[in-house]
Amino acid sequence: MNLTGSMLIGASAVRGSGRDLYAIDPARGVKLEPAFPAGTRDDVERAASLAQAAFDTYRNVPLETRAKFLETIAENILALGDALIERTHLETGLPLARLQGERARTVGQLRLFARVVRDGYFLDATIDPAQPERQPLPRVDLRLANVPLGPVVVFGASNFPLAFSVAGGDTASALAAGCPVIVKAHNAHPGTAEMVGRAIQQAVATHGLPEGTFSLLFGAGNEIGTALAEHPAVKAIGFTGSRRGGLALLAAANARPEPIPVYAEMSSINPVFLLPAALSARADAIAQGFVDSLVMGVGQFCTNPGLVIGIEGPDLERFRQAAAKAVEAKGAATMLTPGIFSAYADGEAALAGNACVKTLGRGAASDPAASAAGPVVFGTDADRFLKHRELEAEVFGPASLVVACKDQAQVREVAEHLEGQLTATLFLDAADEADARALLPVLERKAGRILANGYPTGVEVSHAMVHGGPFPATSNAATTSVGATAIRRFLRPVCYQNLPDALLPDWIKQANPLGLTRLVDGTLTPAA
Ligand code: NAP
Repeated sequence: MNLTGSMLIGASAVRGSGRDLYAIDPARGVKLEPAFPAGTRDDVERAASLAQAAFDTYRNVPLETRAKFLETIAENILALGDALIERTHLETGLPLARLQGERARTVGQLRLFARVVRDGYFLDATIDPAQPERQPLPRVDLRLANVPLGPVVVFGASNFPLAFSVAGGDTASALAAGCPVIVKAHNAHPGTAEMVGRAIQQAVATHGLPEGTFSLLFGAGNEIGTALAEHPAVKAIGFTGSRRGGLALLAAANARPEPIPVYAEMSSINPVFLLPAALSARADAIAQGFVDSLVMGVGQFCTNPGLVIGIEGPDLERFRQAAAKAVEAKGAATMLTPGIFSAYADGEAALAGNACVKTLGRGAASDPAASAAGPVVFGTDADRFLKHRELEAEVFGPASLVVACKDQAQVREVAEHLEGQLTATLFLDAADEADARALLPVLERKAGRILANGYPTGVEVSHAMVHGGPFPATSNAATTSVGATAIRRFLRPVCYQNLPDALLPDWIKQANPLGLTRLVDGTLTPAA
């Protein structure tokens, strides 16, 4: 596919009339052709009006059509073949094998949502039949079903140019819910965005859906992104990226005459707790696995283990030494953008220069010419950590801090002190059960996913996954941005009281034409 640099507004390719934006090859620091001129407020208006016009038609197509549409997007992405992977590699510096894996995840995610649409559980079909004989008052017929919110604007992340971008989890779950989607392309990978955007645009045409079901705009977040967030036709926002960007969009959404929900996934340092028996039994192996997880993807995962907590003593010292040795064997690698590299360099230099922090081990030195980050492991003690909030700031990249506590009570104090997290990890053996039990209530309040004896990097896309958590991990702890339940972010319940059967959506009609399992009078009831 030849890249044109054009935006996709409904069925049209539209050349922006704003300033030219270019992708940068972060490994060589060179501009990549073509230019992707930014859109204007007129383009925002056109995409938003088309989305609004598409909404009632799109949400009312049969669920089977919606599911097939998602599957066609997946097939169209696969049909882009190596050209997609090569362009994404050039734009992000991410290795080809990693991108092939990410493409498989993206396609798998679209197919999972096709299944979710067909299963119909997301509709929460619920029927409280009328009870005309009830005393002292009869009960009316009440039927609940979820409906989509309306057009959704998606801001993709730089660190997952496929799985959290144009056709990533936010887009897949919003389309599955029945919401038209407008994507504000990430400026770090506009060519990837155009290719994937065309795959979606073609799928819209294949299934005869209204053209406003999908649009893709280029431009600066604080210009075109804000204009999208403020547009009255837009009813929700999905965002993955920095805390600053997420908070800016939340503020814009709340300042609207009609505030709308913002599902922003932002910042997490993913604490790893080393419980005493596990640490004593396998400090070296845990340290090696921790460092492998830390440097994976140059540490550019929102689930990167940025904080390790254990009790001071010979076992923690063995862990620190093994982690230092493991990190010293690791090389530097190119980050996603020169800007992300420079934020990493600043963040790790601030920790290295902090009087409360000791550098335990450092891998190859960073190479600014190639935006290549060298990994590093720092150490401190809990007294200092608890006093200095800056030690808790996310350093996006392969840097982590080991915190030594006096005892298990101080471990709990550190856990209690932490901000909200996407994940919390426990390394534990059978003898650690009591300590783990005491920590769990704190971790349940702090994190969206609690893992045992594993590493937080690597997020399965499945029904039970939660990739969310209290602020600042996300702006809304009640949901997840990965996994089947991500669809719920873009739905709201409607109760139909005494409506004639013919006017009801199929899923709550008396005859149950879709054969769904429904909650009838409080009892889960399979189709007859
Ligand atoms: P980002 O700078 O927040 O950008 C994400 C998207 O939001 C981009 O399309 C961006 O557009 C837009 N945006 C940013 N600020 C905005 C604003 N004020 N108003 C409207 N739109 C706005 O995130 P990133 O480029 O992916 O990464 C930068 C930093 O984010 C990293 O250094 C890292 O600290 C953090 N990060 C965290 C995670 C995580 O999951 N926790 C993931 C990735 C990155 P523009 O680029 O045009 O502004």
